[in-house]
Amino acid sequence: MRKRPSSRIPGLHRRPPGERCEIVARWAGVDAGGGWSVPLDEGARESLIENAIGSVDVPMGVATNFLVNGYDLLVPMAIEEPSVVAAASNAARMVRAGGGFRAEADPSLTVAQVEILDAKEGAAAAIQGAAEEIRDLASRAQPEIVSLGGGPVDVRVRSGVGDPRRLVVHLAVDCLDAMGANTVNSMAEAVSDRIAELSGGRAGLRILTNLADRRLARASCSVPIEALARGDRKGEEVAAGVEAASRFAQADPYRAATHNKGIHNGVDALLLATGNDWRAVEAGAHAWASLGGGYRPLSDWRLAGGSLEGSIEMPMAVGIVGGASRAHPAARRAIEILGVESAAELAWVAVSVGLASNLAALAALSAEGIQQGHMRLHRRRTRGSEQG
Ligand code: NAD
Repeated sequence: MRKRPSSRIPGLHRRPPGERCEIVARWAGVDAGGGWSVPLDEGARESLIENAIGSVDVPMGVATNFLVNGYDLLVPMAIEEPSVVAAASNAARMVRAGGGFRAEADPSLTVAQVEILDAKEGAAAAIQGAAEEIRDLASRAQPEIVSLGGGPVDVRVRSGVGDPRRLVVHLAVDCLDAMGANTVNSMAEAVSDRIAELSGGRAGLRILTNLADRRLARASCSVPIEALARGDRKGEEVAAGVEAASRFAQADPYRAATHNKGIHNGVDALLLATGNDWRAVEAGAHAWASLGGGYRPLSDWRLAGGSLEGSIEMPMAVGIVGGASRAHPAARRAIEILGVESAAELAWVAVSVGLASNLAALAALSAEGIQQGHMRLHRRRTRGSEQG
């Protein structure tokens, strides 16, 4: 992570857009060439998708005030929904008063699944016994990731998945700074014939799982109660309301879905800005939230002494190389603004911005209500007064 000046930039939203772009460019030490919008030219569109006929513009803002593991960050967020950027900035300001976000990420393990059908007796043991051979085969299929220090880590066999004769082989691969879907899919295809042979059955599907439960990221924060005061509501009242909202989400999947949507407002906006596959992360998050039965909130808030303690944990398969994060010029710029130097650092920011968006929503809901909050922010914006 690059060391940057303070991300506490009061009144950034009041500056005219051109000046705001220059402030961010100076802050990041990056030449933005007069603006941060990087339109996709025909060549880039053609390289990204098929049958391209144009591109859709989504505004990109920066959320201010973020402090993650002691690093100041302006968080690029691409989103069409009003008040998400302002809300994340406001919540990050409250969290900053308690020392910022503490975040961590697991190693970048992306898991490929190889489905085996009609497996013979003893197939699981035969495959497990050949784990080293399978890892070698997979490594030879993708030598670049191995030469960089990543590659296959382990092989695990799941037996009787929905059918006594269906095995599912999980090949975990350290994808370093990549999300890894293409990398592990190629490996799965390279090892499937050998696995089928060992099983006495036949290979079915060969593709990664988006339930990235070996690639979790976590963030936590302690917000001083007084930092939560809003309008005529005391910090204690808002904190109690946030805690109660958290309990409600744990008790009710209908509420948990909306709670988690608020988290994804922040996460997805960052992922879209940085060219990451937000559908993959969404799918993983909702599957993770449902593991063990029921559907639960990804975050938790509770009062402890003089502060409101927040935490979040969710799968976060993101990359700063590969996919659109390299191919899309605007995504490369967004990664420059952030100053992250690894996929793990990007994951820290993603869970932190998710937790910030969540806090903003719960604080507004438990105080004036979300609509009033939206309108207040909207009026502040149009009047050009203080936001963050
Ligand atoms: P990729 O195919 O571009 O592979 C990453 C490449 O970067 C590899 O060749 C690797 O060797 C190289 N590399 C260079 N430096 C690296 C470093 N420091 N760390 C890691 N790799 C490094 O990208 P990917 O991450 O394998 O695949 C991501 C793409 O796959 C996304 O665009 C995603 O949308 C897409 N995808 C997703 C799914 C899914 O989620 N279900 C399925 C298929 C494809």
